[in-house]
Amino acid sequence: MKLTFATHNENKAFELKNLVPERYQLQTLGELGMHEDIPETGSSLEENALIKARYYHGKTGEPCIADDTGLEVAALQGAPGVYSARYAGEAATSQDNVTKLLSELKERLDREARFRTVIAFIDHDGREYLFEGIVKGRITTTARGEKGFGYDPVFQPEGYPLTFAQMDAAEKNEISHRGKAVRQFIRFLQEQKS
Ligand code: IMP
Repeated sequence: MKLTFATHNENKAFELKNLVPERYQLQTLGELGMHEDIPETGSSLEENALIKARYYHGKTGEPCIADDTGLEVAALQGAPGVYSARYAGEAATSQDNVTKLLSELKERLDREARFRTVIAFIDHDGREYLFEGIVKGRITTTARGEKGFGYDPVFQPEGYPLTFAQMDAAEKNEISHRGKAVRQFIRFLQEQKS
C-alpha cells in the first residue's frame, strides 16, 4: 500500500522510509511530482499537520501523513510555537530566528522550552489520527554546535550538557520530539493488522 509523506524534506522522508512496515511504500511529494506548497494557516501544530495531511490525502486518495513542529518557550507564553519557521519574518532564515529568540530572552533566567512535533495520519478509510512527541530543555545564552538545523544550536535538552547542534543525528533522534512522534506512529502502524 502506498503511504504519502506530505513533506518536501527528503531527509525526513529518508529517515521514515527505513522504519515503516513492509506493506507500506513511502512516497514523498517530490516523487509524486507535487511541488506546490500549501499555506500552513492553522493556529496550532495539530491543525497544520491535519491541513497538510487532508490536502494530500484528497489529492492522492491514499494514506497520508504530515508533520508540524514548534519550539515552545515558557517565558514567551509558548512562542514561537506554530510560528517557529517564520518567527523573525516570512523570509526568515534559521539564523534570523535564533538571533531574535536570543534577543527576546536576553538577561532572562527562566529559559525553559520544549520542542513539540505532531504527526497527522489519515488511513485508507479516511480515519484521522494524531501522534505527539515532546522533548523538554532550555534555551542557551549563546549558540553552540554546528550540526542539525533550525534552533538546534540554542536548545539544550534536559539532562544533557550538549545542545542538539553538538549531538550526532542518531543521538538527537533517540531523545528528540520528532524521534518520539515517529516511533509512536510506527508502533501504531505495526499494531494494525492490514
Ligand atoms: P517543521 O514543522 O519541521 O517545518 O519545523 C518548523 C520550524 O521549527 C523549522 O523551520 C525549524 O526552524 C524548527 N525546527 C523543527 N524541528 C526542529 C529541530 O529538530 N531542531 C531545531 N529546529 C527545528
